[in-house]
Amino acid sequence: MTPSTDRNEALFERAKQFIPGGVNSPVRAFKAVGGTPRFVQRAQGAYFWDANGQRYIDYIGSWGPMILGHGHPAVVEAVQKAVLEGFSFGAPTEREIELAEEILSLVPSMQMVRLVSSGTEAGMSAIRLARGATGRSKLIKFEGCYHGHADALLVKAGSGLATFGNPTSAGVPPEVVQHTLVLEYNNIEQLEEAFALHGAEIACLMIEPIAGNMNLVRASVPFMRRCRELCTQHGALLVLDEVMTGFRVALGSAQSVYAREIPGFAPDLTVLGKVIGGGMPLAAFGGPRAVMEQLAPLGPVYQAGTLSGNPVATACGLATLREIRKPGFYEALSARTRSLVSGLQAAAQAEGVAFSADSEGGMFGFFLLPELPQNYAQVMKSDNARFNQLFHGLLARGVYIAPALYEAGFVSAAHSAEDIETTVAAAREIFRTLQ
Ligand code: PLP
Repeated sequence: MTPSTDRNEALFERAKQFIPGGVNSPVRAFKAVGGTPRFVQRAQGAYFWDANGQRYIDYIGSWGPMILGHGHPAVVEAVQKAVLEGFSFGAPTEREIELAEEILSLVPSMQMVRLVSSGTEAGMSAIRLARGATGRSKLIKFEGCYHGHADALLVKAGSGLATFGNPTSAGVPPEVVQHTLVLEYNNIEQLEEAFALHGAEIACLMIEPIAGNMNLVRASVPFMRRCRELCTQHGALLVLDEVMTGFRVALGSAQSVYAREIPGFAPDLTVLGKVIGGGMPLAAFGGPRAVMEQLAPLGPVYQAGTLSGNPVATACGLATLREIRKPGFYEALSARTRSLVSGLQAAAQAEGVAFSADSEGGMFGFFLLPELPQNYAQVMKSDNARFNQLFHGLLARGVYIAPALYEAGFVSAAHSAEDIETTVAAAREIFRTLQ
């Protein structure tokens, strides 16, 4: 047998010998869509090149962080400078204050913030803080929302509303999720019933406001309003997981999008990640001073991290945030993303393919379904086989979208009108064969 001339295949075979599944995060393995993952050699702007030297228009952007595109010069410069000053100190730096100030100035619901290294860590810490601050144990999450891989959050809905969830991963003892109540997204009736049954015991309700882990499903305005009202009424904290939507859908994040429709809307705690690190391991959680001061060293809720507030990561995040707050940034990003979505819609319509799509800021989602789904069960009605055909067709034409139908896509400031046209033309060719 002659050895493969496909470097991606060769690397995948080699990786699988030493790394479980050949990858360090499962979705990268292309398990849902089949085929060989692309091993990235380098990336610049809206593109990356794989191990064969093949170029792709990148709509994943490291799963959200790369809002400026790859290798933005101001970010590269800031990171290079920071590296020369030292990688990690385990002691405070001025840059951490600057990043905190920058984040707080853009998200006014947060009076204080703590920096951590991953979205998982931020979400897990926010829940501990909510539990510590309220003295309660139970939490509400919604089916289809992903908040990282902390034990208490790896849970699917129980068989009835009064029951709590079941672990979705081996290694999570049922007792660990016994306080996690999983409800249907956008279901106001269930939400009201859950608070009626358990209101006094609920520490927090955690939600992806625009759920990127269901591709793109928005919490309806009435649903979000009810989440806010019921949390306030029952003394539970509303925790918005904006790891994906934070600085991605708007400069003020998804909470500012909802505040346009719900006057005075604000969460109690916000969880951030992805964009705030600009591609480096950095995440954060924050909220009102009185709640945040419950954290160690001031208060009884313990949370810590060797690499928290890492100087290179904070330099990268800070440089990224300084770019995105420039006037007109989100107008241009939103317009480009909308042009992709409307182009895909028109192409699908022209070829008679049932298709629905939505976007907010630089985040988009599409479904091979006639109407936008409202919850996880509706998302799962999508036809995997047809999605896989679309995915592989695009890949073969140099367009890289998420290798799973329930993952959102991302446009960066580096995507050009020509990139969008190329993508739409490629999709149209595939739509023709999908019939
Ligand atoms: N929350 C949301 C909404 C996410 O999309 C993710 C990751 O994709 C996380 C939390 C977990 O973040 P991380 O992968 O940085 O741990």
